[in-house]
Amino acid sequence: MAKKNEQYCSFCGRPASQTRMLVSGLDALICDECAQQVQEYMLKNLKKTSGTFNFGDKPIPKPSEIKAFLDQYVIGQDHAKKILSVAVYNHYKRLTQPDDENDVEIEKSNIIMVGSTGTGKTLLARSIAKLLSVPFTIVDATVLTEAGYVGEDIESILTRLLQASDYDVPAAEAGIVFIDEIDKIARKGDNPSITRDVSGEGVQQGLLKLLEGSVVLVPPQGGRKHPDQKMIAVNTKNILFICGGAFEGIDRRISSRLNAQVVGFSAAKNKEKIDTDNLLQYVTPQDLKSFGLIPEIIGRLPMLTYLNQLDRAALRRILVEPKNSIIKQYIKLFKMDGITLKIDEEVYDFIVDKAVEFKLGARGLRSIVETIMMDEMFVLPSSGKKSFHLTLDEAKQKISREELSRFASE
Ligand code: ADP
Repeated sequence: MAKKNEQYCSFCGRPASQTRMLVSGLDALICDECAQQVQEYMLKNLKKTSGTFNFGDKPIPKPSEIKAFLDQYVIGQDHAKKILSVAVYNHYKRLTQPDDENDVEIEKSNIIMVGSTGTGKTLLARSIAKLLSVPFTIVDATVLTEAGYVGEDIESILTRLLQASDYDVPAAEAGIVFIDEIDKIARKGDNPSITRDVSGEGVQQGLLKLLEGSVVLVPPQGGRKHPDQKMIAVNTKNILFICGGAFEGIDRRISSRLNAQVVGFSAAKNKEKIDTDNLLQYVTPQDLKSFGLIPEIIGRLPMLTYLNQLDRAALRRILVEPKNSIIKQYIKLFKMDGITLKIDEEVYDFIVDKAVEFKLGARGLRSIVETIMMDEMFVLPSSGKKSFHLTLDEAKQKISREELSRFASE
């Protein structure tokens, strides 16, 4: 029962004694439950305010701001960054559009990124996740198989997203999924054969259901569906899918397509324009189809972008420039022991030379730096020294040929 002179929530009328908290404003009071409901309502019905969209308590970054954020972590790859920035921005806009049946409905534009391994696809996806306040998950397409076969069901993708959102279904339904190695589920031959293609076309068909936007029943703990397991219904209509793959050999298809065109009537016009070092920039949906993705999947991934091969200059920048570059990480590690790390400029060139020589790519930069630093990391913390200066001679000594051939064979 309410006590005498007790205060009441101005919204639900409950007395203070029946609430956990009553917050007072100028002329009104609100209890914890009403405040929570208002917050939930606001999150669901976000409206446009003064030129920016609001999502939660953060203003939505503009495409140029999203790209500037990505620039801090990823070197180069401008085309992919632009496509991602616009797609993510539109994703937010779609989420904040009011439910009005008569209004124009903004449909989502899922993305597919084509680029050799180690050129920054996953890094881009991870960096986007850092910026966002929506649930995000990365899944590997190679583990997916058709239902009933060894491997993971397609629905497990949504289980991961649910886990990323602490099983908050509406939040997961607005999330972003990065599907890596999408090329590994390409159809294994041009002719669909009568033998089942468990990890190829069948998986693509299953994936289509998610990409198209439908209500999918998801086993909450992942794994195989179990008869007693209570399923969670997840609507994938607003989930943004970003797919990535190396599509090894696709450059040859692009090249032969371009050559065929060059031989054709527009030969003179096109010839000098083709940049044969970076053929992926000419990738078209047709190339993905001839690689083995089914047209329905390609149709559901309308934003097609590519990543460039990393040249020597890009590797040099990757070593030192990104916000959490390997070198910056080492400087921090030493600093935590009170040691100032100084590295000569030629050491960076040497590291890049070795990565190029042994075809290790950007991933190899870390292994090389780790090998060079290992002894110092072991000795210095207990040495009492306040600084460490790495010269080219020292770096060379630390890297023996045998060690590098070990990296190369890894
Ligand atoms: P992918 O997914 O394309 O195979 P990753 O994104 O996993 O490649 O890249 C592997 C590692 O190489 C990253 O963690 C990062 O350290 C480095 N790297 C690759 N590309 C870039 C880039 N463009 N800018 C900065 N670092 C990069």
